[in-house]
Amino acid sequence: MSFGRRGKFFEEFLNPRTANGIGDFLTMGLIPDIPGVYRDDLLEHFGRKSQNPEVQAVILSHAHADHANYISFLHKDIPIYCGQTCKYILDAVDEETQRTIENEVLKYKKRPCFKKNYKDPPIQRTFNTFRTGDKIKIDSIEIEPIHVDHSVPGAYGFIIHTSNGTVVYTGDLRLHGTHSDMTKDFIKNAVQEKPIAMITEGTRIDSGQTGESENKVYDKSKGYLEDNKYLSIVDFNFKDVDRFTTFYNISKDLGKKFVISFKHACFLERYHKDPKIKSPDSRDENILILKLKRLTGTYCDEDYTDEYIKRRLNYSNIITPEELSKNPSDYIIVLNFWYFNQLIDLKPKGGVYIHSLSEPFNEEMEMSYERMINWIQFFNMDFVQSHCSGHINGADLKSLLETIKPKELFPIHTEKPKLFSKLNLKTHIVKEGKPYKI
Ligand SMILES: [Zn+2]
Ligand SMILES: [Zn+2]
Repeated sequence: MSFGRRGKFFEEFLNPRTANGIGDFLTMGLIPDIPGVYRDDLLEHFGRKSQNPEVQAVILSHAHADHANYISFLHKDIPIYCGQTCKYILDAVDEETQRTIENEVLKYKKRPCFKKNYKDPPIQRTFNTFRTGDKIKIDSIEIEPIHVDHSVPGAYGFIIHTSNGTVVYTGDLRLHGTHSDMTKDFIKNAVQEKPIAMITEGTRIDSGQTGESENKVYDKSKGYLEDNKYLSIVDFNFKDVDRFTTFYNISKDLGKKFVISFKHACFLERYHKDPKIKSPDSRDENILILKLKRLTGTYCDEDYTDEYIKRRLNYSNIITPEELSKNPSDYIIVLNFWYFNQLIDLKPKGGVYIHSLSEPFNEEMEMSYERMINWIQFFNMDFVQSHCSGHINGADLKSLLETIKPKELFPIHTEKPKLFSKLNLKTHIVKEGKPYKI
């Protein structure tokens, strides 16, 4: 799913139509027109013939939306392979989000959905999960997933053994994060294979060495939160366990309670059951769950109709904004911009807001950003930017590529593929729709 390409034609209130099956996505070039991969129901809805799948498997590197969401369109008989932790995250997303045509990764409802088949159970996709060390055999190809460090756990690069030699794919990765050893394992394995081709991410190929780290995010954020006598609000992506850990630890170190949302609880409970991630449960003694006003505004159980909230209403660590506003300095609250109207109930009289996400990189984000600043100024809060990227910087990526030294290089996931040509490697500027023979 390319956010950039989608954003070229669509926005919040102008979306691809569900009523045209897969048609709007194909016509506007949001997905490539590949035979034998898409769902029968969506093709038929668009007036095309359904096709038997011609693809044996799809390998998913990690659970970010740009990589995972358009699994929604795939034929039900194509199995998906992903890491065990990646699957846990997809489960959490599935629990806390409303079904849309672009968000039917684990299961989907046959479309068009008429009243008479509205209650039919959804069709489940086949997910096969792996861990580092496993080998996946698909037809004549053998794939070795190797863990890499990224801003979401359960991220993998792949070493793909073919009869003509080895191909490696980086997935999304970085070398400046908390678990850089995992990326180094990937590099070590890739070097040994002397790959004939390498497919690489390149989101930040235009940057030099950045000096960023998760530790710096901790130090900077803690500094601001430590001295704050009023309300503390932070925002970060809950798929990022390292960032969760950073703010959870700051809360503990400062003797404050960490307040999360019911949506966050869906993720935290999955992380907690994963032995590879040492995360607390959503009912941990240092964690509270924020209950927001719905429907009648009286916080009665009947006001909450979303299943993921209903099944957690009996937790004993639930708190309301009114209760938080009595002793604001006792808490660090995770609050996303889309929930800023809650500030009206939280009533901050000053305090700190830490934006632990990337800075805006397009017009739409700039507009939201401006609005966010307006809210923060209105409540006399200080704004702090404190973040480190999920992606490898240009300098690290160049040395990674020069270390692995593939015979041929295919940069993808980049807006500046031409910058790769400056390296001493045979580089292909990948053209959409063109097959490459190795
Ligand atoms: Zn990613
Ligand atoms: Zn990505």
